Amino acid sequence: MSIFKTIRMNCLTKPLFNLIKSKELLPPISDTEKTALRAGGVWMEGDLFSGHPDFEKIFSAPYPKLSDEEKAFLDKEVEELCAMTNDWEVFQQRDLPENVWSFIKENRFLGMIIPKAYGGLGFSAYGHSCVIEKLASRSQVLAITVMVPNSLGPAELLLQYGLEQQKKYYLPRLADGRDIPCFALTEPEAGSDATSIQSYGIVFKDGEGKLKINLQFEKRYITLGAIATVIGLAFVLKDPENILGRGGDLVRKIYWAGGTIWALPVP
Ligand SMILES: Cc1cc2nc3c(=O)[nH]c(=O)nc-3n(C[C@H](O)[C@H](O)[C@H](O)COP(=O)(O)OP(=O)(O)OC[C@H]3O[C@@H](n4cnc5c(N)ncnc54)[C@H](O)[C@@H]3O)c2cc1C
Repeated sequence: MSIFKTIRMNCLTKPLFNLIKSKELLPPISDTEKTALRAGGVWMEGDLFSGHPDFEKIFSAPYPKLSDEEKAFLDKEVEELCAMTNDWEVFQQRDLPENVWSFIKENRFLGMIIPKAYGGLGFSAYGHSCVIEKLASRSQVLAITVMVPNSLGPAELLLQYGLEQQKKYYLPRLADGRDIPCFALTEPEAGSDATSIQSYGIVFKDGEGKLKINLQFEKRYITLGAIATVIGLAFVLKDPENILGRGGDLVRKIYWAGGTIWALPVP
């Protein structure tokens, strides 16, 4: 380490950081934010941002490949969907034409990430990404319409946290478009800073002793929100009577760690 670097670190950087810490000049990172920040891992971008990328490691890293099925889907169904969509017309009509909607549903574009066992296409993240990339080259509306059910939509949350009974009922319906999903996170007062959502639900027991949630929410900018039949809803869960036995305010801890709180009825 050069002498200048050592001097800079000891005389400038460290005292500056200590001052910022002691004066609490930066807002504290909440438990929720810590969980979000620590989620996942880094890939080769970690190396790139280090300033000393190890090119040997980068070039020998395993890269995902498309399966034969994914390739065939890109060459046939995705090509056809692109050919039948005219971005100008979509903006004029402010919707996708009926034949495009039917083609999307029949060919399970909305169920790319849903495993075949539940009626989806069972594509990899890379396969899904290649499909969206190609659709976006034709029409943004088309790409986002297909992308949201496969990424934000409740299918992945159901796969991760749903009961088998819920998976068996909802996933095939989401895969073939009988149900249209959306994910409602953004609010008038919460956009980039999703942790500031105001929508809340209060846990209570009804007259028959059944566990329920009283929801108060206001959302905006929700893709497919106007036609959705299965809604993933982000809200702050409050349990003032401690019915669930986890403390009165379950708030964002659950929201971030467990995805959205589920309010889907068990069929
Ligand atoms: C095509 C599309 C589809 C969407 N679909 C969905 C959906 O399905 N579900 C859903 O919940 N939401 C959806 N959204 C909403 C989206 O999540 C929000 O638009 C996004 O989170 C940004 O929030 P905002 O629009 O309120 O902007 P704001 O958060 O108010 O940001 C306004 C401006 O301030 C800047 N800014 C904000 N915070 C900071 C900061 N800390 N430092 C510096 N600059 C900052 C931003 O870059 C931006 O330029 C969709 C949006 C789009 C465009």
